[in-house]
Amino acid sequence: MEFSDFIMAGDYGAPLFGTTRVGCQLPLLFAAFRANAAVLLPTLYFVCSGFSTGRVLNFGIDVPPDCLRTLLIGRDMQRHCFIMLATYLVGRLRRGLRQGICSEENPCLKFKLHLKSGVLISMFFSTQSGFAIARSIITPICDACGHYVGNEIDKWRKAMWEDVPRDFNLPEWSILREELVALTRS
Ligand SMILES: [Zn+2]
Repeated sequence: MEFSDFIMAGDYGAPLFGTTRVGCQLPLLFAAFRANAAVLLPTLYFVCSGFSTGRVLNFGIDVPPDCLRTLLIGRDMQRHCFIMLATYLVGRLRRGLRQGICSEENPCLKFKLHLKSGVLISMFFSTQSGFAIARSIITPICDACGHYVGNEIDKWRKAMWEDVPRDFNLPEWSILREELVALTRS
């Protein structure tokens, strides 16, 4: 349930149940919803928010309507946060430039921001490291700037992760953690 645990779990292409891990996410979400397994729902809603609306709606007829509604509303909130991240990052790059964190003759953060929405606006954090995202959107970039930008990206992603339960109309993480502990003790 921690941001770092989720990031470490990565590899959505790994085989699972005769398909890939990512291919199982929607059926698992619907099954967890029906079973009222609240401790599983935030993570499943979050990874499923990466699917297109068309894929979700075309999944089939056996979809719990309330689960679908929550997923689509939460998905919109998630997308808004990713778009806001792009705006936030531009401001942070300017700040980094002012603070002189770069020792290169031509500072990496000057006029080098190439926002690739497919990478930056990557739903369900499919790129694991903020540093890797920084290196993919700013080319070239030195280590100091890469860590600075990567840290800013991860600060934003951690804040998003804290809000995941709220976005999907669930109890906050601390309550879900208590439920998980109680479940594992019973
Ligand atoms: Zn630099």
